[in-house]
Amino acid sequence: MRLVLLGPPAAGKGTQAKRLDDRYGTVQIATGDMLRAEIAAGTPIGLKVKEVMRAGQLVSDDIVIHMLEARIVRPDCAKGFILDGFPRTVEQAKALDAMLAKNGMTLDAVLELKVDDAALIERVAGRFTCASCGEGYHDKFKPTKVPGTCDRCGGHEFIRRPDDNRETIAARLVAYHTQTEPILAYYAASGRLKSVDGMAGMDQVTASLTAILDQLRSA
Ligand code: AMP
Repeated sequence: MRLVLLGPPAAGKGTQAKRLDDRYGTVQIATGDMLRAEIAAGTPIGLKVKEVMRAGQLVSDDIVIHMLEARIVRPDCAKGFILDGFPRTVEQAKALDAMLAKNGMTLDAVLELKVDDAALIERVAGRFTCASCGEGYHDKFKPTKVPGTCDRCGGHEFIRRPDDNRETIAARLVAYHTQTEPILAYYAASGRLKSVDGMAGMDQVTASLTAILDQLRSA
């Protein structure tokens, strides 16, 4: 299955993508993670995008499109993938259709998580991840069971993203509403868009998404 998970920052795309990967054997491809890896490795791309990301703005289409094109042809994507954080502009959505067609692939569905802006600000402000295994947590909604210890791998180091603060989230929401939201109409026009209530609890959101995907697979 090849899917796009759409939704504003902190809508739960990463959490849901990991759960869907476990169920369907797909691979989560998060362009934000790929860009953060470039920054951490100090590559020329990393140097170029660092300040743009810190300001909560979008990286140029050229950079992310080339990065994604190289990623989806890797062998681990053969069983399918879930795009998390891409496309973010109509330009990227069109480029995705073109690169899939070029490689004999199609997009099975575009899943939108609908969440209110006010809820997103609260979600973003409390997010952190395990530095060892990448498991996501939240101060209020999903704290570690034992303080300071990752539930999944037992790690003790955690990371908070530099763009996960109240000021930057405001810029990221503006970018979402102005540059990313027009994608919804693009996908709706071709009948590929399915929307679910992202304000529901994590398990309910997973249930809504799997109901859609199971139906799609049996059709
Ligand atoms: P994310 O981890 O998806 O929240 O992305 C974090 C940041 O990375 C965004 O605020 C952008 O600066 C950048 N970014 C990630 N994916 C894209 C994309 N598809 N297009 C442009 N910028 C992106």
